[in-house]
Amino acid sequence: MTGLFDKELARLNAVHLTRKRRQVAPLMAPADLGAQDESLRGTTYVIDGQARLSFGSNDYLGLSQHPALIAAAQEAAARYGVGATASPLVCGHSPAHEALEQQLAARVGLPRALYFYAGYAANVGTIPALVGRGDAVFSDALNHACLIDGIRLSRAESHILPHADLAALEAALQASTARRKLVVTDAVFSMDGNVANVPALLEMCERHDAWLMIDDAHGFGVLGERGEGTLSYHGIAGLHGVAPQWRGRLDRLIYMATLGKAAGVAGAFIAGEPSLVEWVMQKARTYMFATAAPAIVAESLRAAMRVMLDEPERRDHLRALQGRLREGVDAARLPWTLMSSDTAIQPLVIGSNADALAVMAQLDEQGLWVPAIRPPTVPEGTARLRISLSAAHTVEHVDRLCAALALAAKSASQAVA
Ligand SMILES: *Cc1c(COP(=O)(O)O)cnc(C)c1O
Repeated sequence: MTGLFDKELARLNAVHLTRKRRQVAPLMAPADLGAQDESLRGTTYVIDGQARLSFGSNDYLGLSQHPALIAAAQEAAARYGVGATASPLVCGHSPAHEALEQQLAARVGLPRALYFYAGYAANVGTIPALVGRGDAVFSDALNHACLIDGIRLSRAESHILPHADLAALEAALQASTARRKLVVTDAVFSMDGNVANVPALLEMCERHDAWLMIDDAHGFGVLGERGEGTLSYHGIAGLHGVAPQWRGRLDRLIYMATLGKAAGVAGAFIAGEPSLVEWVMQKARTYMFATAAPAIVAESLRAAMRVMLDEPERRDHLRALQGRLREGVDAARLPWTLMSSDTAIQPLVIGSNADALAVMAQLDEQGLWVPAIRPPTVPEGTARLRISLSAAHTVEHVDRLCAALALAAKSASQAVA
């Protein structure tokens, strides 16, 4: 029976497309870290038995091991136990979840939020709740896989648009006679790090009476004056509410962000007009038919939301590291291109799958963990190292990465010669 899969696996392996899981754990338990070891927190892991400085996580603010979040989780376990026991609509929705949703809505400046146990679940549940047969979805070619899966599940007609091509989108919206139109985009593209032009998209959706859904998995916590995300980055809405020129104009917006990345914990939320959010809560099958995330998670997230406001220096430091990396890469005159990015995601495009894996292996030998990302996650021929920076990194960490890349480039050129 399984011979078929063996053959398929061998074929994937031959084109360097099989993936391997590593076993990863912090080098030192967060509780054991003291002042002199603080730079290990959220940066240094034992990966398959070897200590590595990691540039692979989405822990952009370094909150996953923050003492305040750990304490909140411990207190919540003592107060609520460890399991939510049922889906949110049965009896899995606790006061902790309720308070979290209110905090999330206020943070992004939208009237209501709904918390999901995972970003994947939020997207594959929300899109089919909004559109169906006879409707049309307009999706950026580089959108995240779970947006694509949500579109497929919805059975709406799907239009895949060239990446960030506003003119192509406008033409497609113009030509569509669908009953309901939904434009879907990553707010920050997860493998490129660039930010979508949300104001232009909102205006275009106004002109064509379409809905706009943005997935801010990589912007929430990182972008905006207080980490409120991409809406704040573009001056649309945030902690202080909706900006005057956008008041009354956000009822066509479905905002979505995940909470396992910069927020350091797990889950996701959607936010928007109360009736829209209520509708999704009534209809999203991933909300109705899945056990709620434990209250431990909700309470840890409430602590994360406080830290995001109380420690703005984390975002300042992250921005400084982005600049430091760019300077370091420029100075090293690498044969590879660091894509332009305003975010913590700093992709270094290598090209072929084999070359990307070779550079990754070179860095690994030097004690650094930087994941190579290959097709189908990124387009063919653009395999890359997805360098992801965290506020937990120090300037010395980034300098070490630049030095290691310079060495890897030297050995790559020797291999060619
Ligand atoms: C990570 C990610 C998701 C999925 O979120 P999870 O909470 O990990 O399930 C959704 N969209 C984008 C753009 C992501 O990067």
